[in-house]
Amino acid sequence: MTIQWFPGHMAKARRQMEEKLGLIDIVIELLDARIPYSSRNPMIDALLKGKPRLVVLNKSDLADPAVTKDWTDFLKSDHTGVLAIESVSGKNLAEIVPACKAKLLHKTKAQLAKGINPRNFRALIAGIPNVGKSTLINRLAGRSVAATGDRPGVTKAQQWIKIGGEMDLLDTPGILWPKFADPAVGYRLAATGAIKEEILNLEDVAFFTVRYLLERYPKLLAARYSLDALPTELTRPESIVAVMEEIGKKRGCLRSGGAIDLAKAAKTILKDLQTGKIGRISLETP
Ligand code: GDP
Repeated sequence: MTIQWFPGHMAKARRQMEEKLGLIDIVIELLDARIPYSSRNPMIDALLKGKPRLVVLNKSDLADPAVTKDWTDFLKSDHTGVLAIESVSGKNLAEIVPACKAKLLHKTKAQLAKGINPRNFRALIAGIPNVGKSTLINRLAGRSVAATGDRPGVTKAQQWIKIGGEMDLLDTPGILWPKFADPAVGYRLAATGAIKEEILNLEDVAFFTVRYLLERYPKLLAARYSLDALPTELTRPESIVAVMEEIGKKRGCLRSGGAIDLAKAAKTILKDLQTGKIGRISLETP
């Protein structure tokens, strides 16, 4: 379910986030591995006020592994803990608790020095809609505790789930709003399915995506749609549209009368991208 973010929603999400932050030791900031910059909430640093965090790049099964490695190195360079995971397959989920513990080590040591026996640390998973928060919570819990696709403002009693005997995880995620200012960010969010078609024009999103694929992943695009000749000149919009039409023709996206249905072609391309059919693709680099 995609949320239309109005100022009231943001204020409410912010308030709920601040309430949750008061309860926890560490934030697991969930980003989409394909778009770590675009899937980051614009106010996260201000919201966290220096609270420890672990950055987790989810859906890395869909992202370009080489680019995910670049992002991990880049994000690590400011001493942030970073992990790339796959919430659906479960890959690397076992690393989350140790990585959080490493971030909290100084605190644990200080407690031990004072003779205090450290309790389980408390964590919250936070991120923009569709990034996989509920999938991750359910997967870590080993059962269905978080409703997928929930919205800010829908409150339910919060509970702690014990993970691995050391972490208490809040079963309701912190829901954050995405960046809005930059149109390219909007296209990337739409291309990955984080925001829905109604918000942006589908053909524009597909145009943006095809241009990026021609720049960065021409071989994958050509292979998926059996394209023979790709344009080398990508500054002309006509060349990009011609590729979209070619894909439409190949995939039988036609109107009655035989004209190519560009809207249908756009939908096909985006669906293929989102389900990994074109290949493992990242839509931005550090
Ligand atoms: P939330 O809104 O952040 O709670 O996101 P959800 O948990 O509802 O997930 C949104 C969509 O992303 C669902 O269709 C999930 O199946 C899918 N998803 C979540 N994690 C992964 C992942 O690691 N890989 C892939 N391929 N899909 C994922």
